[in-house]
Amino acid sequence: MTPLHEIIGRRIRAEGPMPVAEYMALCLAHPEHGYYTTRDPLGRGGDFTTAPEISQMFGEMIGLWLAQAWMDRGSPDPFILAELGPGRGTLMADALRAAARVKGFTEAADVWLVETSPALRRKQWEALGVHQPHWADDVAGLPEGPLFLIANEFFDALPIRQFVVSDGTLRERMVGLDGDALTFGLSPPVTAEEMPEGAEDGAVYESCPQGRAIASAIGERLAAHGGVALAIDYGHAIPRASGDTLQAVRDHAYADPLDAPGEADLTAHVDFLALAKAAEAGGVKAWGVHGQGALLDWLGIRVRAAMLAKKQPDRADEIQAALARLTETTAMGTLFKALALSGDDIPPPGFAEDLGA
Ligand code: SAH
Repeated sequence: MTPLHEIIGRRIRAEGPMPVAEYMALCLAHPEHGYYTTRDPLGRGGDFTTAPEISQMFGEMIGLWLAQAWMDRGSPDPFILAELGPGRGTLMADALRAAARVKGFTEAADVWLVETSPALRRKQWEALGVHQPHWADDVAGLPEGPLFLIANEFFDALPIRQFVVSDGTLRERMVGLDGDALTFGLSPPVTAEEMPEGAEDGAVYESCPQGRAIASAIGERLAAHGGVALAIDYGHAIPRASGDTLQAVRDHAYADPLDAPGEADLTAHVDFLALAKAAEAGGVKAWGVHGQGALLDWLGIRVRAAMLAKKQPDRADEIQAALARLTETTAMGTLFKALALSGDDIPPPGFAEDLGA
């Protein structure tokens, strides 16, 4: 039994079953035993690998996206270059290196990292120390000013609430106890969430209040100070189908979300339309949603891959494999999606047109 299993068990015994969102928040961010609090989960030696850890090309393309969006807005100086949940800092480091080719960009950038994990803040310092970054606990902690913000695999790590249709009423999915074992159960009927039309018994609906709140905070900032935001994640961009998307990953394999709390990564599909709507309520324009593959293609990742392979012929196969993994439909190309937000009507790079994915 993990230390967090014991803590959660004690709390359930004292206070009753807890909503999935509370369970997820404790597993990921408990101040002592939370998954992100205690470790760097990324890469081959960790539990999962993200796009920037697959290849430098990913961060480089995002860097070009940022630099173009910055120039399109009159190259504001200074501006806030922010990342939500920067992991090891790899994406920001690659982005800054690629964007350094654009005159004035790096000098004007005030780098801000929104990160809650002390373990990952240390990693980010190692990767980004030369850029003298600042850290904030949340979007509200960012200073005011033109904002150019990126978030990769950030929104999928935020706690979700789950609601289940049961006997014609809606109930919240809870985590309770069966002896010492954690089990899923249902709350008494709730009225907080509207019952979706035509909902069938057993259907699961998810919502991510924290994600919506963050999207709306970003929207308000972009509307007030100008700038753009780009969120890339895995999830759905069509009106919500029902379904349980809570998943646990440990050592690069799926696990039971109730097994070993604090030792596995817990995520859920991102509802891009809900994020777009929340941001728009803050007064900005939402663009996309595009498939990650289509956006990277538009930004020129194939040209970059060819260039890298030419420079390092012995790594050509590895570069080709990374390119395929990032862009192909059978890999991350369409499951991962990109949503852009802008405080103005200028289309963010790649978002003016239908990219066909
Ligand atoms: N963007 C990185 C890491 C993704 S993992 C990459 O693509 O490799 C998720 C990241 O979000 C981690 O850095 C984690 O510590 C951070 N995180 C999770 N919940 C957070 C929250 N509520 N506030 C700030 N950071 C959070």
